[in-house]
Amino acid sequence: MTDLAAARKALDVDRVRRDFPILSETVNGKPLVYLDNGASAHKPVAVLDAMDAYFRHSHSNVHRGAHTLGDRATAAFEGARETVRQFLNAASTKEVIWTRGTTEAINTVANSLGQRLRAGDEILVSTMEHHANIVPWQMVAQRIGAKVVPIPVTPAGELDMPELDTLLDSGRARVLAVAHVSNVLGTVNPVRELVAKAKSKGLYTVIDGAQAVPHYRPDVQALDCDFYAFSGHKLFGPTGIGVLYGREALLQDMEPFMGGGEMIERVTFEKTTWNVLPYKFEAGTPPIAEAVGLGAAIDYVEGLGRNALETAEQALLQRANELVETVPGMTVIGTATDKVPVMSFKIDGLHPSDIGTLLDQQGIAIRTGHHCAMPLMAYYGVPGTARASFAFYNTLDEVEQLFAALQKIQRLFAE
Ligand code: PMP
Repeated sequence: MTDLAAARKALDVDRVRRDFPILSETVNGKPLVYLDNGASAHKPVAVLDAMDAYFRHSHSNVHRGAHTLGDRATAAFEGARETVRQFLNAASTKEVIWTRGTTEAINTVANSLGQRLRAGDEILVSTMEHHANIVPWQMVAQRIGAKVVPIPVTPAGELDMPELDTLLDSGRARVLAVAHVSNVLGTVNPVRELVAKAKSKGLYTVIDGAQAVPHYRPDVQALDCDFYAFSGHKLFGPTGIGVLYGREALLQDMEPFMGGGEMIERVTFEKTTWNVLPYKFEAGTPPIAEAVGLGAAIDYVEGLGRNALETAEQALLQRANELVETVPGMTVIGTATDKVPVMSFKIDGLHPSDIGTLLDQQGIAIRTGHHCAMPLMAYYGVPGTARASFAFYNTLDEVEQLFAALQKIQRLFAE
């Protein structure tokens, strides 16, 4: 048995694939090969069933306490919050705030932290950030006269640590907001080290975990970050739900971003006071079924065992790396030492969107374009890339199908 095959044995992929009904779909007459997991991952039956059961038997609004269904809904909703707390190893459920996704989580923290920033302050992000971790900071910075400053990346797609030190030494930086994992490059950033450096200079630290949670279980206490954001739909859960983890002492002191029902303690026309954590940051009726679905997704993924998943995923990346040389003119963008199974690439003479369209005709789904990371595209001098992003349910055979199709496309255009 080859090393790769042995690594894949750590996980019973055939069995796991049966948990994801959509993977049996046919696309353009071909069995679906879904390699766009970085954009959104598919949902196991456990998630579909949990949401179905919630709607059939428990749905009502939460925290109203008026009747039995309301109590059931509240128990399911708060139970899911406890699942997330354990997943993140947060100290308390007061630190787990439901949002619609990573984007809303970062907007919440940017706006609330923004109230503590002054003109001339710097917010450090990195060149590899998703727009979701750039634009909210720019909007806040513009209002207060602060500045968003990018940490450069190296050609391999790693953070330029000496440059970060220089930026920290200026004494103007007040916030460090970086991705745990890059959605374009797959780079795993050294978050612990980054947070330690930033904290030694008194910065607030915000980690965008959107692309990390499908591959790793973050431990917010070990990372020691102030904030950590992620989306349910990339973690095999539903859309419309995400999480903002925040350190309790900071959240206590921060003003809420959105106002409305649920987030208040008492409202009068003279003065309104805020609800306790975490509800202070959860205005309006929350996405209840989606929270339940996310809880089920976490239970499912953690039940498979992260070590087995990581071994299986790394085998996919290794096979993909081995096959790059079989496609003439193919270059991988993002060659960091520590990577999740994400491969951005270009092929000489081919536009990324043509690669995407031709692969789709073969039933192979990848993502093409700027991946909501235009500054990173500018750094690499490309309008966009093609990106294959793998999940644990992908097979070595699917990796090989991707490369066989790329070889075919390349030959077609080379003629
Ligand atoms: N950050 C990163 C690194 C991402 O990959 C994404 C989604 N592509 C986001 C933030 C935004 O996530 P969402 O659209 O779910 O809010």
